[in-house]
Amino acid sequence: MFTTRFAPSPTGPLHLGHAYSALLAHDMARAAHGRFLLRIEDTDTARCTPAFEAQIYDDLAWLGLTWETPVLRQSENTAAYDAAIDRLGEMGLLYPCACTRGDIRRVASAPQEGAPMHGPDGLIYPGTCRHRRWDDRADSDAIRLDMARAVDHLQTLPDYTETGSHAASTLTRALLIEEIGDIVLARRDTKTAAYHLSVVVDDAAQGITHVIRGEDLATATPIHVLLQALLGLPTPIYHHHRLIRDEQGKRLAKRDDARAIALYRSEGATPNDIRKMVGLPPA
Ligand code: GLU
Repeated sequence: MFTTRFAPSPTGPLHLGHAYSALLAHDMARAAHGRFLLRIEDTDTARCTPAFEAQIYDDLAWLGLTWETPVLRQSENTAAYDAAIDRLGEMGLLYPCACTRGDIRRVASAPQEGAPMHGPDGLIYPGTCRHRRWDDRADSDAIRLDMARAVDHLQTLPDYTETGSHAASTLTRALLIEEIGDIVLARRDTKTAAYHLSVVVDDAAQGITHVIRGEDLATATPIHVLLQALLGLPTPIYHHHRLIRDEQGKRLAKRDDARAIALYRSEGATPNDIRKMVGLPPA
């Protein structure tokens, strides 16, 4: 059965971009007589707050959305992420990393390295700790995926279906190794699973058949498809949607004064006003 989800991180108020994503996923689930789930992506405990989480439930209900309960909260599901990390570690695909952001910046911008390359998570990791063994990891280390080894492990790279506003991409060795590189799967600062790992584990556990999200996340999709293949998990269909922009074409999420749904509510807007603002037909 068609099953999709909206997966906000409670690190701030929901704005029009979030509303569009949630409403679109909800509308598509309804049209397909499918399921709509809500997942709270709160592994970043330093930035997530109970007040933002409460505001998410309140704003979504006000918009007219209904979702199944209990809601999966990632902060309560860390054992599943640890198990996935252990599995990849035992497959010989992970290594511990003690580099700080500053270390990475220095090595990546050394003159002999050429122009520093950026991937979906920032600078592409220059491989300083790649020689380290998984068994020698310390509590203070981050955990990275050895991308070249992961690609070799799979031999054939998986295909996936991508619809929506982002041109479908194909997984290639060069894309994964040169343009994405050795991504972090467990963070050293918060000691928690990184977004790429938790999202893949949870989409599979919740039986998500269609991931509907903004095209700003399209560059992360090859990582998610790769992790699914490594962990033996099914790959959903990915639908990336356009981003909501202001009159100057600037992404709302990046604007300092991005207006919260709560603010429109307090000014008397109706849910159909919000639908109109983001270009959706009235409910
Ligand atoms: N939690 C992510 C965010 O708020 C979305 C994750 C996803 O839809 O895959 O940007």
